[in-house]
Amino acid sequence: MSGSQSARAWTERWVRNSIYCPNCGCPTLSPFPNNSPVADFFCDACKEEYELKSQKSIFGNKVLDGSFRTKCERLATDNNPSLFLLNYDLKEFGVRNFFVVPKHFFVREIIEARKPLAETARRAGWIGSHILLNKIPQSGKIYFVRDGRVELKDSVLKQWKRTLFLRDQGQKARGWLIEVMKCVEAIGKPEFQIDDVYEFEKRLGHLYPENKNVKPKIRQQLQFLRDRGYLEFVSRGYYRLRAKV
Ligand SMILES: [Zn+2]
Repeated sequence: MSGSQSARAWTERWVRNSIYCPNCGCPTLSPFPNNSPVADFFCDACKEEYELKSQKSIFGNKVLDGSFRTKCERLATDNNPSLFLLNYDLKEFGVRNFFVVPKHFFVREIIEARKPLAETARRAGWIGSHILLNKIPQSGKIYFVRDGRVELKDSVLKQWKRTLFLRDQGQKARGWLIEVMKCVEAIGKPEFQIDDVYEFEKRLGHLYPENKNVKPKIRQQLQFLRDRGYLEFVSRGYYRLRAKV
């Protein structure tokens, strides 16, 4: 067996033995048959599906993924899996980092098409994809293991629940909410003013050129995030990020 095959077998076993379902807390996940085009694991209890990507080095801004077309089709029909990212240390047979990106953070903006394969390739013209991790807010990266330290299950489950409201939103509405969540994170303070978010007016306007009223749209998103318990309203024009748990 090649090195990467044995690493794959080892990491899959590790997930089966160590990882619970972040959606419902069920203590184990079941594997799909090998090379299933759907995903790698699913939860018997709540049916949530997970795709596993593992590698030795720490994940950077981009993660290589499968067919661009399949990815976009699954996004459009809302049946894409959540993504597990595992970063291991083979020497110590240890997991350095393990986190999940819940499926509701997957919007079209974070999928990038790769260059089509050359004419000479076996699958000439095939287009793969990248997942742009740097376009996902921190709240969309929930760690089970961070720098070799295991996080509390209770905290993982709470962090998952905290953004679950995104699931009820359509792709477009979700895109706006996620962008505003990223602006709030970029402010870097637990308490902020609405003016701090208005600083991003230009950037948001550039992302959504068809929207001519960016400020009211920002206000609306903040209110929505407050209504869903992601933010707290302190006083007129002042908001607070709800503690991470
Ligand atoms: Zn579950």
